[in-house]
Amino acid sequence: MFVGHYAAAMAAKAIEPKAPMWTLAAAAQLVDIGWSAFIITGIEHASVDSALPGSTLVLEYMPWTHSLPAALAWSVGAALLVRLFLPLWASVAVGLTVFSHWLLDLLVHRPDLALWPGGERVGFALWDYPVIEQAVEIGLIAVCGAAWVASRKTLGRFAWPAIGFIGFLVALQIVAMLSPQPEGPLGARSGATILAIYLVVAVVAALTDIRGKARRATA
Ligand SMILES: [Zn+2]
Repeated sequence: MFVGHYAAAMAAKAIEPKAPMWTLAAAAQLVDIGWSAFIITGIEHASVDSALPGSTLVLEYMPWTHSLPAALAWSVGAALLVRLFLPLWASVAVGLTVFSHWLLDLLVHRPDLALWPGGERVGFALWDYPVIEQAVEIGLIAVCGAAWVASRKTLGRFAWPAIGFIGFLVALQIVAMLSPQPEGPLGARSGATILAIYLVVAVVAALTDIRGKARRATA
């Protein structure tokens, strides 16, 4: 799951518009932002097996980001952190968005998500059915994106920044699909590229919150 995670951010924004979109976008990938930082520093390990269908990632060791207790800890931690700046329900929305990452990963990952550190690993392996997996990701973006656009209209905000962001994500997914990773252990360079992509998406997401109310023509 790559851009599909941002569907959770869009759904959260539709329900709780007070949460900034860049925060929700970062929240949707917070677990992977931590993971890419841990790949760079060698704390967690992954490799690429180009013989695999769908995602070619083999996620060997990621207890600090993708085990169930770790995902819960990142979610609660993020909610508490943003509570310093955001209203209560916006903070709850951020925490739930962080946790959505684990649930969506559960759907697509091959069994590599530990239920407890060193414990049973789970994953429904939709990655093994790449066409269905891509359809699920784009479908999630379409449904949650439509809810986000509708909520913006209710608030008297332009729809096009949201539509532009959705288009950007779809383009990113296509580029990612067409950019195979080199075979072997995932190195610091790949980790840094992935981290940079998540940060760029958060910056682009921030643009969708820039004020500019849609105005109806007045007589
Ligand atoms: Zn993940």
